Amino acid sequence: MKQGKIIKISGPVVTAAGLKGIKMYEVVRVGEQGLMGEVIELEGDTATIQVYEETTGIGPGDKVIATGAPLSIELGPGLLSNIYDGILRPLDLIKEQSGAFIARGVNVPSIDHNKKWKFKALAKKGGEVKQGQIIGEVKESETITHKILVPFGINGKIEQIKDVEGNLDTVIAKVKTKDGLKEITMVQKWPVRVPRPTQEKQEPTIPLVTGQRILDTFAPLAKGGTASIPGAFGTGKTVAQQSLAKWCDADIIVYIGCGERGNEMTDVLENFPKLKDPRTGKPLLNRTIIIANTSNMPVAAREASVYTGITLAEYYRDQGFAVALMADSTSRWAEAMREISGRLEEMPGEEGYPAYLSTRLSQFYERAGRVIALSGKEGSVSVIGAISPPGGDFSEPVTQGTLRVNKTFWALDKNLASMRHFPAINWLDSYSLYLDTVEGWYKENAGEDWRALRDKAMELLQKEEELQEIVQLVGPDALPVAERVVLEVTKIFREDFLQQNAYHEVDAFCSPRKQYFMLKIILHFYDQAMDAIKRKVPIDEINKLDVKNDIARMKEHPNETFEKHMEKIMEKIDKSFNKLGGGR
Ligand code: ADP
Ligand code: MG
Repeated sequence: MKQGKIIKISGPVVTAAGLKGIKMYEVVRVGEQGLMGEVIELEGDTATIQVYEETTGIGPGDKVIATGAPLSIELGPGLLSNIYDGILRPLDLIKEQSGAFIARGVNVPSIDHNKKWKFKALAKKGGEVKQGQIIGEVKESETITHKILVPFGINGKIEQIKDVEGNLDTVIAKVKTKDGLKEITMVQKWPVRVPRPTQEKQEPTIPLVTGQRILDTFAPLAKGGTASIPGAFGTGKTVAQQSLAKWCDADIIVYIGCGERGNEMTDVLENFPKLKDPRTGKPLLNRTIIIANTSNMPVAAREASVYTGITLAEYYRDQGFAVALMADSTSRWAEAMREISGRLEEMPGEEGYPAYLSTRLSQFYERAGRVIALSGKEGSVSVIGAISPPGGDFSEPVTQGTLRVNKTFWALDKNLASMRHFPAINWLDSYSLYLDTVEGWYKENAGEDWRALRDKAMELLQKEEELQEIVQLVGPDALPVAERVVLEVTKIFREDFLQQNAYHEVDAFCSPRKQYFMLKIILHFYDQAMDAIKRKVPIDEINKLDVKNDIARMKEHPNETFEKHMEKIMEKIDKSFNKLGGGR
């Protein structure tokens, strides 16, 4: 093993000489404690290393040992339900081993190697297998059956395979390859900076249903797509990410927390394990992996956590799952890049961020996608990144860099948040480039005229913005009556459709069907109102209609029985307007 010596240290950045033949991105162990670091710059045999652990007490002359391998993680059953740090050390295990919250240099396996699993063989003796194919499965949790994949680089004929009960290191199969007989266990390694290969990419035609009306109806995300949630402090990024984790129709959730405030990560760690999976009633953690950048880890670890998280997501994708990865917040990762870059004395780009900021962002988001995996299964990784632009100013480099590579933009709005309009997502600033690709799905699963209704609603909301400007100048009474109807109806849209209470038992999740019916009801009210004013019905009469209360309460009506409920409200709207009569 190569050994060098530290010649310089600056916070989490260490320079070491005498490491002949070391490679870029190779993992090293620094100092007596063996702190984990990664080579990020190389000049001859002098390596610059970012250290993923606190470097106090480390100094020039201390040893640095090269490990010969890039930053890699273990993949196998037992990953789910864990809470990890950025380099995939389980937080509770570390606690047990070292007493403190996190001790430095602690080398614990990511997955429990003692736990027994019942391996069920799916491939047969004598069969040919290729890397990435499924050879068997184990029940990882009550709801998730983990597929065991042939490790990368192994192709050949199965010499031996059988159902066994064993731990991660138990040999479950032997494959005869051109390089000899290879033993396969339930665990394999993968270098996190390398995207896992797939057979082919698929079109993002299936939505990732979130149950959040503002998102699904107005700026839908596709499975395998990318979205960002930029917003100033306190506008609802974390609440949105957690609602998504809880309600979106992904099989597996990977949640990367880059704590914003000191105690926010503690909050996540305390609250997340308490969340219930609304579909099973079981803990949400059963199908979740959390990566937490706690405040006592140096900023460099945030970088590791992002790559670690996306690799975990790809691994479950390759088994045929729909995975959703949430990162809260990517600005903290970008700030880490800025700090490291500063210490490397690189030429700073915009606002001090390194020039490669947008390249890194796009490399990360490019790992999202809906694919046919090497296993032949269809799987997806959807990525949702929160951004915390200082002061909520979206023109800053991280928001802009993300916007360029990201296809869905969910813009949080300080004004909405301060008016307690939640989710505080601005419907006019937000957009999705998947609207056309998911339209077919919504037509089939929500309603034939889904797109037409959605576009009509958006058109009214845009019109409202123009009208508001006029109202500010001359007051509402000066407007033609048809435009006052628009204002009334868009108020209904804002309060009864766009606002959605994340903490309400029923309203927290709104099915695509119910979203469609709600649109239909409000737009039917609009059509009737426009008709009525043509018959000279006074607008005040329309505004007083009791059916408006039914519309206001429809959010609280259960998803399952909403269709019947809709018919009732539609009838009541018709009756109410018939009663108003007018001079028809
Ligand atoms: P950020 O992460 O952007 O700093 P948070 O997600 O912590 O902001 O949200 C701040 C507060 O706003 C929450 O504590 C909550 O009171 C309120 N809030 C945000 N989103 C919602 C929502 N969808 N429903 C109800 N309240 C919300
Ligand atoms: Mg937050």
